[in-house]
Amino acid sequence: MIQDKYSVLQTYFGYSEFREGQTEIIDALISGQDVLGIMPTGAGKSLCYQVPALLFEGLTVVVSPLISLMKDQVTALNQVGIPAAFLNSSLTPSQQGKMMQNARNNQYKLIYVAPEQLTTPRFLEFSRTVTIAFVSVDEAHCVSQWGQDFRPGYLQINDYLAALPKRPIVGAFTATATNLVKEDISQLLRLRDPLTLTTGFDRKNLSFAVEKPKDKFRFVQDYVAKREDISGIIYCQSRKNVEDVCQRLSDLGHEATRYHAGLASDERRANQELFVTDKMKLMVATNAFGMGIDKSNVAFVIHYNMPKNMESYYQEAGRAGRDGSPAECILLYSGRDVVTNQYFIDNDIEDDQLSEAEREAFKKHEQERLKRMSFYCFTQDCLRHYILNYFGEASGNYCGNCSNCLTNFEKVDVTLSAQKIISCVKRLRENFGTKMVIDVLRGSEQKRIKTLRLDNVSTYGIMKDTSEKQLRHMVEFMLAEGYLITSDGQYPVLQLGFRAKDLLTPQANLMMNLAKEEAPKKKVAVTDDVVNPALFARLQILRREFADEQKVPAYIVFNDATLREMSARL
Ligand code: ADP
Ligand code: MG
Repeated sequence: MIQDKYSVLQTYFGYSEFREGQTEIIDALISGQDVLGIMPTGAGKSLCYQVPALLFEGLTVVVSPLISLMKDQVTALNQVGIPAAFLNSSLTPSQQGKMMQNARNNQYKLIYVAPEQLTTPRFLEFSRTVTIAFVSVDEAHCVSQWGQDFRPGYLQINDYLAALPKRPIVGAFTATATNLVKEDISQLLRLRDPLTLTTGFDRKNLSFAVEKPKDKFRFVQDYVAKREDISGIIYCQSRKNVEDVCQRLSDLGHEATRYHAGLASDERRANQELFVTDKMKLMVATNAFGMGIDKSNVAFVIHYNMPKNMESYYQEAGRAGRDGSPAECILLYSGRDVVTNQYFIDNDIEDDQLSEAEREAFKKHEQERLKRMSFYCFTQDCLRHYILNYFGEASGNYCGNCSNCLTNFEKVDVTLSAQKIISCVKRLRENFGTKMVIDVLRGSEQKRIKTLRLDNVSTYGIMKDTSEKQLRHMVEFMLAEGYLITSDGQYPVLQLGFRAKDLLTPQANLMMNLAKEEAPKKKVAVTDDVVNPALFARLQILRREFADEQKVPAYIVFNDATLREMSARL
């Protein structure tokens, strides 16, 4: 019998060290404390409950929102010899019965359950006849109506816990870090004095880029030609793409190998080994590659196609630079990627026996996530900022090394501006919010300013030539760097930060990446029911033109039927 968390980690998962946050969470759980773990996608939340599950006497119930997620996890666990099963609407009643029977006979350590199953009479009865040591709620933000993923079934978790003879330890895990959602999780799941642990989402050594090359292969070819001795992964959407890209790279004399679910498991294992041991520098793979692989010196990850959501993207891109060295994550976008992903959303879920409502909710949710992924490819903003924001982490800063920062931003000496901002915050007695400080600095004619006589303040209008947007960027930057802070509460006001005094010394020198003032944008919105082939062709051209210019957000919104139509045509 394995006794401690380190041997579980080694024996089953084959890893030698825990990642940030994992040790604390696992220790709390095995000492009997509830946990709320907030970690970015790919940080390793699963391990935080899987390791304790193997250490507890009794069964662990994992609440999970998606059938595909459950399947993946259970398959992965079984592969490493951990007895686990899932219970959801994709199983027939008799399969469900069998699974519960097995569980009664102690055949599993973990069972994954859809939230709606928890309070069915059958599962309740089952739960009373076995010892449930631990309930882990994965994707716990689904309990909150504030998030976009609200799932009413999650509200039943409480009823389930209350119906058990003995309340198990409860762990909740999510990648969503907004305060509202955090509080909701704690309250709605009635966590008892939980250890709440948030690990940062930012991976500072990664730099991000979105490229829209006309010829993707050409891009990859040129890119790897300049990087002979370093390791990288090239993710493609389809097996066919993997074969094709890998073949062409090999033909050019590169050490490239491949990985996708269509290969025999022996070959997959062999290819993975070649890559992990540095015998092959390039891995061309579908997203089947990566799970459980910990290669530290991956210097770049190129996405040949846009993934279906930001979670997948950040997880896959995050396989670069685990050793902390600078690494590049490049996404090669084409309009077609959106169409393909939409096609998958429409067709992937047909196999699962979801109810109509579940299917619709799932689809909507996936569509929303696809949209946010597409926006990533078209944002003019800092890409790191976009990612961190997506995962609910505040970031006012501009990273200065993503493809957007490098083209849309310039390094500027803002010392004088920052001093003006500081002095205005002081003159306003640290009593006003960002908007008002900006308005005063820009000499706004607003009524409220007159009423409060703020136009008498000596800093009124001293930055009237700076745009509101730039001023806001500066304030955000100063907040991120500790020159300013905001007070807590419903109406946060700007106050001087602990570094403010540094700005008032003669040596003060503050540089930042400031957004260049924009040229006016062309705006073309195309929201149409386009089933007309000529119009479709025209849209394709438009989209390509936009993509080339890299200036105009060219996200085109189609409805379901249109997309299906288009996918069929492609
Ligand atoms: P999350 O649920 O937080 O998105 P996962 O639990 O799916 O992340 O883990 C992401 C990846 O990190 C998996 O491939 C997992 O095997 C790997 N991983 C987790 N913990 C460790 C660790 N301590 N050492 C190395 N790899 C780890
Ligand atoms: Mg997870």
